[in-house]
Amino acid sequence: MKVEYRDFVISVLAGLAGGLTVLVLLTAFGHLRQLQTTDTELEALSRRGFERTLAVMDEMRRGVQQLESVDGESCSDSERASLGKLVRNSLYLKSANIHMGGNRYCSDTGIIKRELQKPHLQTADGAEIWLYANNPFSARNNTLLYRNNGVLLSTLHDHLLNIVTDNRTRMVLYDPVSGNVLARHPSGARLDPNQIPALRHEPDTAVVVLQDPRVKVSLLATRRTAAWPVQLRENLWPWLLTAFVCGMLAGALCYRQLGFRRQPAQQLKRAVRSKSFEVNYQPIVAIADGRCLGAECLIRWQDEDGRPVRPDHFVPIAEEIGLIEAMTDIVLEKALMELGDILRSGTLYLSINLSASDMIKRRFYPLLRESLIRAGLDPRKIAIEATERGFVDAERANAVITEMRDAGHSILIDDFGTGYSSLSYLQKLAIDVIKIDKAFVDAINTESATSSVIVHIIAMAKQLGLKTVAEGIETEAQALFLKAHGVDAGQGWYYSKPLTAAHFRLFLENSHAR
Ligand code: C2E
Ligand code: MG
Ligand code: MG
Repeated sequence: MKVEYRDFVISVLAGLAGGLTVLVLLTAFGHLRQLQTTDTELEALSRRGFERTLAVMDEMRRGVQQLESVDGESCSDSERASLGKLVRNSLYLKSANIHMGGNRYCSDTGIIKRELQKPHLQTADGAEIWLYANNPFSARNNTLLYRNNGVLLSTLHDHLLNIVTDNRTRMVLYDPVSGNVLARHPSGARLDPNQIPALRHEPDTAVVVLQDPRVKVSLLATRRTAAWPVQLRENLWPWLLTAFVCGMLAGALCYRQLGFRRQPAQQLKRAVRSKSFEVNYQPIVAIADGRCLGAECLIRWQDEDGRPVRPDHFVPIAEEIGLIEAMTDIVLEKALMELGDILRSGTLYLSINLSASDMIKRRFYPLLRESLIRAGLDPRKIAIEATERGFVDAERANAVITEMRDAGHSILIDDFGTGYSSLSYLQKLAIDVIKIDKAFVDAINTESATSSVIVHIIAMAKQLGLKTVAEGIETEAQALFLKAHGVDAGQGWYYSKPLTAAHFRLFLENSHAR
């Protein structure tokens, strides 16, 4: 799977996981909040319920006051009309009657006879209350009768707790002395005032008990905390949206993080760990007759997406993060492994590029020596290329290369002319060859100001007794020019591009055959 695609899939999964986690957390948080708010919400609901009860009771009290002045003795038409008017003008009253004595009552339809038992409860202001499933005074069921000062009124049980709640709330209005129930909400709710202590211990249940000194009734209310899925259902869209946004963010963050992992520095670290570099060999030929003298080892790397990265890009990064020395070692190891046999059997040499940090540490040479001994190779088979940058700390660099030079390795100064080396400076360096930079080769036979510089470089090298290798030769004209000026060796696409070990072998076979 391609790295970017794999990262994308991982990020999508991370986004999904993130979104899901947020959803679960929201549900859990909602549940906790619900636990906290259930008590206060129930308290508010109970108060509303109780206020309704008091409002109904109030209406009955006012009804009694209004009818107190009506003399029901004769139960005349006007008296009956007043009774009917009172019921019509009230919110909760269902019937109004005036006690005429004994079992006789004056109603809006005439005199009726009713026998009432002992009242079920008595309010603080002395009113008697009967609770009937079947109303003896009207056709309506679940009736509450209220009698005070000879006035008998009726209302429905349901009016007493007629408020809007959710289906998790239960209420019961009761007489705390007798335990008689006046009303339930919802009407079929099974809630027993005798179970208050047990209810208080029930998990996820809030319990509220209200009392009011004006009426001798109490209200018991319970509310179950919403189950998790209920919460989810109630808040589905906002929570889903939040989870979606968080999931997207998590996915994007993950992709970015993975992107960082894809960054060259991180990738280079992994490549060094797994030694996943290749080495190409660019033939170095004698300018005079085109004979192959050896090759320069050039490191090659493909990033984790399989794209080749130019050494110009990754070598500076490797230098910056301290990986270049490990890479020099890898190049040496691969080169000896791939072409050790050719080096042993002939006169060819390989040149290895050293980094600036290799030039100031006495680290590489012991390794080089060991490797050559193990491979059974003469030190002359490995040349060392050091750039002018490597000589910034000239003293230490000189010490390092002198050791190698004394052992028999040729020392080449790479990219010569592009740095800040002066002639006097060059004299002090323990070097054998200068590699004339491609920039000067490019300028050959051109009108540019640098076109004549190469002639001076060649002359200077000769004066110092140094050999010359010209880099980046691309045309026959350049090769002829360099030949005419006595440059020793050349390297460039004109002869060959950098080759894999197998192709370099073919190149050698072909050049021998020529
Ligand atoms: P360099 O050591 O001067 O290597 C010569 C560069 O010129 C190589 O580029 C080579 O492919 C390129 N070249 C050779 N002939 C021609 C030509 O005719 N035309 C053109 N246009 N280019 C030509 P490459 O391989 O991309 O390497 C670039 C630089 O990266 C090297 O310059 C060297 O400084 C560094 N490098 C490469 N391999 C290593 C290594 O193993 N270790 C270290 N420390 N640096 C390395
Ligand atoms: Mg080089
Ligand atoms: Mg060079």
